[in-house]
Amino acid sequence: MNEARLEGSCLCGEVAYVVRGEARRFYHCHCKRCRKATGTGHASNVFVDGELEWLRGQENVTWFKVPDAIRFGNTFCVNCGSRLPRWVPELTGVMIPAGSLDTEPSIAPQARIFGGSKAPWSCGGDTLPQFDEYAG
Ligand SMILES: [Zn+2]
Ligand SMILES: [Zn+2]
Repeated sequence: MNEARLEGSCLCGEVAYVVRGEARRFYHCHCKRCRKATGTGHASNVFVDGELEWLRGQENVTWFKVPDAIRFGNTFCVNCGSRLPRWVPELTGVMIPAGSLDTEPSIAPQARIFGGSKAPWSCGGDTLPQFDEYAG
């Protein structure tokens, strides 16, 4: 069991949330939609069997659903554009963009998914040197 109480917020701080439940999966997703939505090589998402509660700023939360997607959508703060969690009915759980978390998730990344869509320049494994901070 990874019973979790995960709190997070957006870049501007207007929106804050708590997700309670069991953290089941933690994936780096390299699919094209995640690349577009995040503007980077992959999304890092934690999936929790549980519920999402907005602590503040819910009026600033909106979302965009990709018209031809079954379930892909992007939930974000209208003020700063940060990705935020969303309830995913098909998974009966909450998908949390890991970067929005202010608390440490109880599980570690388990896999990279949609590797077939991975950009050639994206990080993709443990062969790259790692830096604790920005490396110039
Ligand atoms: Zn914000
Ligand atoms: Zn994806």
